[in-house]
Amino acid sequence: MDYPKKNKVVIIGSGPAGLTAAIYCARANLEPVVFEGFLAGGQLTMTTDVENFPGFPEGVMGPNLMDLLRTQAQKFGAKCIMKQIDKVDFNTYPFKLMTDNEIIESDSVIISTGASAKLLGIKGEVEFVGRGLSTCATCDGFFYKNKSIHVIGGGDSAMEEAIFLTKFASKVTIVHRRDVLRASKIMADRALNNKKIDFLWNAEPIEFIGNEEKGLHAIVYKDSKTERKAQIDTDGVFIAIGHNPNTNLFKDVLKIDQNGYLITAGKSSRTNIEGVFASGDVQDSIYRQAITAAGSGCMAAIDAERFLEQKHEL
Ligand code: NAP
Repeated sequence: MDYPKKNKVVIIGSGPAGLTAAIYCARANLEPVVFEGFLAGGQLTMTTDVENFPGFPEGVMGPNLMDLLRTQAQKFGAKCIMKQIDKVDFNTYPFKLMTDNEIIESDSVIISTGASAKLLGIKGEVEFVGRGLSTCATCDGFFYKNKSIHVIGGGDSAMEEAIFLTKFASKVTIVHRRDVLRASKIMADRALNNKKIDFLWNAEPIEFIGNEEKGLHAIVYKDSKTERKAQIDTDGVFIAIGHNPNTNLFKDVLKIDQNGYLITAGKSSRTNIEGVFASGDVQDSIYRQAITAAGSGCMAAIDAERFLEQKHEL
């Protein structure tokens, strides 16, 4: 698809934040161009049923929800380009963005590149995502009513996910590779004192086992002290070893916090460069929900519109 090389607003990323920003920008006649990246639609395209996005009482499949958001943005004139931005130059104005050896200029930029759940990189992992293996308890916990499940990790995320999952599961076992938790004391105590939560210490997962019919049903792990291998049955696994915000492009350009997330000012989407805004998981290490990402995409679009109004008296 052809697209203009000089723009009022370019949106990088096409998850709920980027596409909501696109809907708002398009309706404000800013003719946004969305660079969707390689994983068009973002993390939700890797999930199945989404049951907590308001307006869908019967739930909606993650990829369908993203298609609907894209269609809505395109209806108002947003251009969605399935390309990745490889480089940005925010020191010049208009800002410059590079893709496929092309230079695109834009008067404002909304960054919605999201975050990626860290994975273990072990055998069986990728093939069972969505079939017994998840990286989001809030999204998928409901499917594990009265099941015996495992959460991998020893940080605050793992404690939080495990505690949340006790609302559904009959038993949750936290599998940690050491015998000391990384989690804060308050979170660790909550998990340690929860009667539905057990711990498997010094256990380093090395393989996930499953089949077509049942999906994932066992974890092979190595005892990190004795090196002995063992296999445990499971009804489901949640990997909670952290997230990586997708900020590689902006590392030496924008202010980033100690966990790698873009820093935005107060209750706004403004980054430290005037005219560059951030929304969604790339700037949110706390809520990380589709609906909060969408809300912050709306904020970024309104911030961009106001910025352009002042700068160019639109
Ligand atoms: P984290 O603190 O980096 O913890 C990651 C955990 O996963 C660690 O226990 C680590 O083990 C384990 N891990 C990492 N790679 C692994 C691998 N390849 N195999 C097995 N285990 C592995 O990440 P997080 O828990 O997502 O927390 C990130 C930040 O967000 C922290 O600052 C946290 O306090 C904050 N946070 C806060 C809350 C809250 O306050 N409610 C909730 C979530 C997150 P080791 O310990 O052995 O390294």
